[in-house]
Amino acid sequence: MVGRMPGNPHHGVIVGIDLGTTNSLVAVCDERGPRTIDDERGEALLPSVVRYEDDGAGSLRTVVGRDAADYAIDHPLTTVSSVKRLMGRSADDAAGDLPYLAYRVAPGERGTARVLLPIGDRQVTLSPEEVSAAILRELKDRATRALGEEVRRAVVTVPAYFDDAQRQATRHAGRLAGLEVVRIVNEPTAAALAYGIGVTGAPREETVVVYDLGGGTFDVSVLRITPAQREGETAFFETLSTAGDTRLGGDDADHALVTLFASEVRAMLGLPAEGGASLDAFPPATRRALLAFARDVKHRLSDADHASVEIAVNERDVYRRTVTRAEYESMIRPLVDRTLDCCRRALRDARLDRAAIDAIILVGGATRTPLVRAAVADFFAREPYTALDPDRVVALGAAVQAAILRGDRQGTLLLDVIPLSLGVETVGGAAAKLIMRNSAVPARAVERFSTSVDAQTSILLRIVQGEREMAADCRTLGEFHLRGIPPMPAGVPQLEVEFLVDANGVLTVRAVERRSGRRASLQVVPNHGLSADEVERMERESLAHARDDMTRHRIVDLVANSRLDLKWIGERLERHRAELDPAYAASLDRHAASLRSLVDAADADWRSVDPNTLHAAKEALDRESVRLQEVAIAASLRSDTP
Ligand code: ADP
Ligand code: MG
Repeated sequence: MVGRMPGNPHHGVIVGIDLGTTNSLVAVCDERGPRTIDDERGEALLPSVVRYEDDGAGSLRTVVGRDAADYAIDHPLTTVSSVKRLMGRSADDAAGDLPYLAYRVAPGERGTARVLLPIGDRQVTLSPEEVSAAILRELKDRATRALGEEVRRAVVTVPAYFDDAQRQATRHAGRLAGLEVVRIVNEPTAAALAYGIGVTGAPREETVVVYDLGGGTFDVSVLRITPAQREGETAFFETLSTAGDTRLGGDDADHALVTLFASEVRAMLGLPAEGGASLDAFPPATRRALLAFARDVKHRLSDADHASVEIAVNERDVYRRTVTRAEYESMIRPLVDRTLDCCRRALRDARLDRAAIDAIILVGGATRTPLVRAAVADFFAREPYTALDPDRVVALGAAVQAAILRGDRQGTLLLDVIPLSLGVETVGGAAAKLIMRNSAVPARAVERFSTSVDAQTSILLRIVQGEREMAADCRTLGEFHLRGIPPMPAGVPQLEVEFLVDANGVLTVRAVERRSGRRASLQVVPNHGLSADEVERMERESLAHARDDMTRHRIVDLVANSRLDLKWIGERLERHRAELDPAYAASLDRHAASLRSLVDAADADWRSVDPNTLHAAKEALDRESVRLQEVAIAASLRSDTP
């Protein structure tokens, strides 16, 4: 969908591009806020890999992205990856990177790094800008197809430490791809913009740490964001310090796993473990398989406790291996510790204490690793922002910057209050609101819930936004499970749910079951993907349905509570019937039956039941059951069974 075109309509859309070392993405920001643009296969991430081939007519043909990345091992000399490391640098500067690149690099004009490729019987020389341009062109074409209009302008992100030559090279790559690079933005700044920091016009200064663990590089930046002084101006982003390691990233975890698998495969085949576990002895297809397996295991271990691989090494032997999360974490712990050393350095250079940091933003696919999240949370004694997909957040922020440059700030909801109420779905589908519409940020609320079914060991929490009384009529922001609760009778577990909206509008929901201590949490940005029009529509609808909705909410809650009462009373009645006066027992039966028939009717059609009648029937049964409760309590005191 194409956004409105204020400002100069001749210029059209501006996209945001994250031109990454490992992966690149393109995003736009329209009235629904920023979103990344997928390719035809539904993939947002384009591997920053280009393979060059002879097209048979003496010209070069490029294969960009997934196909080039998957078969890089088979074409080591003609596949260019990580070209971002060469952008705007001399061959001398890049010398340290060369051992890690399979293709050839040599000095060109004025010593600048050039890529040398053997194509057929020719030697082709390319500048890093030309290779980057192939990636940018792919993204430009993708956006053009998706938006239905020629994309000519882009905001492109670069690392905060990029010098002028590297930034110029990035602009030049854009030009070669037919894109006017209207602004170069630092990656950490983009990440902050994606979270609305410096966009929402709040009158406070913020200090933010951006922790970016990508495929091959780690960068940490400390930013100070000073809000705009006047309407229409944008916030001022200052980089207080940067630190990092250009040889540290998710790829290192892949290599650690590959080394493990390779050495075990060698041992299994009775091969000598020469030089650790050099992969060179394996044919390309085996190396490719090992790498693919390693990456797959790594990704699965971000969600699961263990992951298994099965590799047919030859016709007879199958290598089977299960890697537990604990084992994997002990392998990567040193890598994570190195990132924390960089964080320490960045804070020192910024002359700041950990306590001075207002928010930590996680960026880069490798920050999906639970150990990384936990280590960062531990280091800063604060939960980092994870609500936005860490491998998209930079591209999303570039798109926000693009929208700001077009003078179109519609895409981000500029509100310092919570525009729509926030709550959870309860039994029966009602929406229990914890934070009401128009509350100022930051805001916090806690509410207690319980279960409605016996021996429920997992509780699903669905977070909803909106003014309607039923969750189905609200917007779902996300859901998560609180698992591992020991079996208890319905109503006994004590579920405490906390909603916390911080000054940047990021919502953290924490749930804890008090008796077992089990906890789980979720983080979302409630205003993401929400347009001002939509807020208005949801308000209008809530007014139109207010009366019906309220009745329904009341009935749903009454039904849920009546069911718990009926169950409790039914069980006690069966157990103690013999001890009761038969006339009293019969009266309880009658009251229970009439409540049950109302509950069943309400379940079939909530409109068929008057809530006051239902309420009265429930109250009547509760009153009538007082004596039964006394009998049950007396019995439990005697026997220990409640
Ligand atoms: P870059 O900024 O260098 O282009 P990305 O931010 O795209 O890189 O990060 C790529 C890295 O993230 C790769 O090493 C990839 O394996 C890793 N990664 C992606 N998804 C996951 C996941 N679910 N768990 C762990 N690592 C992941
Ligand atoms: Mg990146």
